[in-house]
Amino acid sequence: MNQQVLGLHHITAISGNAQRNYDFYTKVMGLRFVKKTVNFDDPFTYHFYYGNYDASPGTILTFFPWSGISKGKRGVGTASEIGFAVPEGSLGFWKARLEKAGIIFNNPAKKFGEEYLTALDPDGLKLELTVVKTSATDSRVPFETPEIDATKAIRGFHNTTLTLRNIKHTADVLTDIMGYRLSEQHVNRYRFVTDAVADAAVIDLVEAPGEAQGVVAGGSIHHVAFRVKDDATEMALREKIAAKGFNITPQIDRMYFHSLYFREPGGVLFEIATDNPGFTADEPLEALGTALKLPPQYEPRRAQIETALPQLIL
Ligand code: ZN
Repeated sequence: MNQQVLGLHHITAISGNAQRNYDFYTKVMGLRFVKKTVNFDDPFTYHFYYGNYDASPGTILTFFPWSGISKGKRGVGTASEIGFAVPEGSLGFWKARLEKAGIIFNNPAKKFGEEYLTALDPDGLKLELTVVKTSATDSRVPFETPEIDATKAIRGFHNTTLTLRNIKHTADVLTDIMGYRLSEQHVNRYRFVTDAVADAAVIDLVEAPGEAQGVVAGGSIHHVAFRVKDDATEMALREKIAAKGFNITPQIDRMYFHSLYFREPGGVLFEIATDNPGFTADEPLEALGTALKLPPQYEPRRAQIETALPQLIL
C-alpha cells in the first residue's frame, strides 16, 4: 500500500467580498477562522483559512477573496464540489440553519449509501454536508460555537469532486502516484479512496464528456492539496511525479506548509502540502486567526498592506 499521500490537506477556492465570505463560513457554517493572511503571490489581497478546532490538515478550506471578481462556472476540467463530514443525525439541524440564513440548498439525498445535503455558498460554490459511514469514529476535534455544538459541527473534509471530460488519466494519477483505489462507481461518478487515513480520504471523479468547460473564478475551486507528513516524503513524491512526465514546481514555502504544484491531466491544479510546520508556526492555538499574519518577506510593508486590505469585522 502506498502510504505517502494522507488524503486531502486543504482546498483553496476563490470568493467575492471578504466580509461576506468570513460571515458565511464562521457564523453560518461554524468553522474556525484559523488564519488571516495575504495571498503570498499578491500581498494586497487576503488569504483566509478556515478549519476545525486545531487546524488539522484535512479540515482546511482556504479562500482568496477578490471583491468584484467575475463568477466562475462548474464544468469539465475543474474541482466542482467540496464535501464536509458532519455527525449522524445533524442534517435536519443544518437544513433548518441554511434555510434561516437564506442559503440555497437541496433536501437531503443519498450517494454511495451516505446521506448528504447540497448547498451553495454566497458566491455559488457547491458544498455538501455528508453523514459519512465512518462518522462515529471521526476523531477530528470540532470547533464549537454557541449555536453549533459537537453533535452538529463540521468535522472537516469528507471528499472533493473533480468533473472531467474523461477520467482515465486523472484516475491513473490517483492510483499510480497518490495511492488511491477505485472503491465504488455509480453511473458516471467514480469514487476513489485512500486507505492511508481514516478521514478526508475520498476523491470522486465525475465523467461528463458533454458538459462545457468550467471556468475558475469567483465561487469556484482554485486547487486541491494532498497531504504528506514531511519534507522527505514530499521530495520523494516529487521525484515520482516528475518521472511520470509532469511539470512540477520546486518546493515553495507557504509558511504553514511546504508545497509543490502540478496540473493533473484533466486540467485541475493539484498541490502536495506537508503537515509541517502547521498553523501554530506564527501564533498559538488559542489565538489562531485573530491577527493579520504576514510572511517575513512582507513584514517591512505591513503598514502599506494593512491600509490596502478591506477592513474585516471579526
Ligand atoms: Zn494551496
